[in-house]
Amino acid sequence: MNVEAVTAPGEEIQRARIKNIKDKKFTIALVGNPNCGKTTLFNLMTKSREYVGNWPGVTVEKKVAKLVGNDNVAVVDLPGVYSLSPFTPDERVTHDYIENENPDLVLNIIDTSLLERSLVLTHAIASHGVPMVCALNMADIARRNGIEVDTRYLESVFNCPFVQISAAKEVGIDVLLDTIAHQLVERRPARSVLPEDAPMDDVRKAVAEIAGKSAVIDDVDNFSDRLDRIVTDKWLAIPIFFLVSWRIYFLSIQVVGEITGGWAESAVEALGTLITNGFAAMGVSEMLTSLVVDGILGGAGSVIIFVPQLFVLFVLLSVLEDCGYMSRVAFVMDRIFRVFGLSGKSFIPMVVGTGCSVPGIMASRTIENKKDRLMTVVLVPFMPCSAKLPVIALFAGLMFSGHSWVAPSFYIMGVASVILGGVILKHTGFFKQEPAPFVLELSQYHLPTVKNVWESARQRTKEFIKKVTTIILAASAVIWFLQYFTPSLQVADSAEYSMLGYIGKFIAPVFAPLGFGNWQSAVSILTGFAARENVAASINILFGSESAIKAAFTQVSAYAFCAFVLLSSPCMGAVAAMKKEIGNMKDTLLAMCFQTGFAYVIALVIYQAGRLIF
Ligand code: GDP
Repeated sequence: MNVEAVTAPGEEIQRARIKNIKDKKFTIALVGNPNCGKTTLFNLMTKSREYVGNWPGVTVEKKVAKLVGNDNVAVVDLPGVYSLSPFTPDERVTHDYIENENPDLVLNIIDTSLLERSLVLTHAIASHGVPMVCALNMADIARRNGIEVDTRYLESVFNCPFVQISAAKEVGIDVLLDTIAHQLVERRPARSVLPEDAPMDDVRKAVAEIAGKSAVIDDVDNFSDRLDRIVTDKWLAIPIFFLVSWRIYFLSIQVVGEITGGWAESAVEALGTLITNGFAAMGVSEMLTSLVVDGILGGAGSVIIFVPQLFVLFVLLSVLEDCGYMSRVAFVMDRIFRVFGLSGKSFIPMVVGTGCSVPGIMASRTIENKKDRLMTVVLVPFMPCSAKLPVIALFAGLMFSGHSWVAPSFYIMGVASVILGGVILKHTGFFKQEPAPFVLELSQYHLPTVKNVWESARQRTKEFIKKVTTIILAASAVIWFLQYFTPSLQVADSAEYSMLGYIGKFIAPVFAPLGFGNWQSAVSILTGFAARENVAASINILFGSESAIKAAFTQVSAYAFCAFVLLSSPCMGAVAAMKKEIGNMKDTLLAMCFQTGFAYVIALVIYQAGRLIF
């Protein structure tokens, strides 16, 4: 079937058919390999706004939505899997759903350019005898690569319809919907060439034969292959990756930061003046004015000004994810990680973790091997998530202006810490075993779609703003309260004699060997446990001015401080996610102690060695 032909006139009539299924409620389960375009198709079918990434592992939760144009049909998006053998949590969810929930139809999405691999899953679903429709996705790429698929042959093998589509280009969707409508009524059970419990080797052999008979491939050396030879080259891959990361951080943190930072800061300042004057005119008490202006605006306001830089950063990261470059990075990292006994699969959750550790920790569910998975859960928080960026950006700007390497160096530190932490964990005997084989296959490069990039950047920015306007706002108010009053609830003459001052002074000596033994830093670190963005906010509130911050830190101690904030036990949200994956509180606490101890030692080494050198 030709891809152009499936968008022929008459689509209105075809679309009408699925609208007409009214007499009963139906459920369609979406199944496919990670990265086959399932989320794109799900969004298209339901018009819901899901995050679309280029990672195996992003779609870890089950999502349900109504089919657009017909509320009687529910579409369930199951996690992307390679097989239905219930080894990983993702596979278990998908397997159990098909086995126990009896969906009316399984819509199996196949990446046509990776036909053979996809047919392993197709075989597994077909052997359950459920009604199935197969969507041969990425038809545009397949055609460009000279892949022709004999859909009639596949239909005869699996006893179910095969439709060529391109979810990203929205081609063939109406024919697909029409075929689904037919199948929902007809309920023809799919069949497989082999029984469900056939040995994997036999399945692979049978599937290879079917793929060979159904697809004719013109073996052309395309652009994607040529680019891959450079990007994944033994010597060039890592320098290219660092160059790309550095340019991205330079562009967002430095260039955009400089343009918007001052402007946003003045806007927050102007708002502060406006409120102060307004409150004075209304006769509002000094205390309330201080709460709103110094506490809330001084805290949450100092974090919100990072939104433009973070948005640009998220856009650029989404472009890299969406075009397929990040999968190459994971592939390259596998070579390095393997030397240290880690799997490259751990790198995917780590990259997801650069947005936020919570989805990063959740993305580790795609790792089959339990010990590898738990180790990844403990190591992911070492990556600089977006919440840690404000404090890095704050110090990079204040103490290291003109040194554009400072911000990206924390990414290198994050990756290096994952490797070092992994080696330590392996050698403590907890996680001793060979890393699981890496199964990520590189699909073709895609031109990133504006919709995906925008959606992903919007989602991440929204999360950030949500946190600033909730947790950080509340924490800013609490910090203000503790700083405004003495332990006997008198207005404190200076913050030093406030409740916060006493708490900070009590714990500050612990940090003295790391170069930041002042009470303000100690308190900032404590507030970072609620949310990491708080650290920058607290530093701003407690020191009160840029010059005070500059006076309290040297370049070396500022760097050690950022390293501690980066590596120590993550915020409450991430700890909750860690506990969910680890399964019990005792081991979660152990993991937190490991992270904080690790951070302490690294910051200590940085400060003590740095002091000797500089
Ligand atoms: P999932 O992991 O299966 O949910 O896959 P996604 O929906 O996130 O898609 C992975 C990538 O493939 C995204 O960059 C999509 O834009 C892209 N993609 C999906 N379908 C097609 C298609 O038909 N053609 C092309 N060229 N790209 C596609």
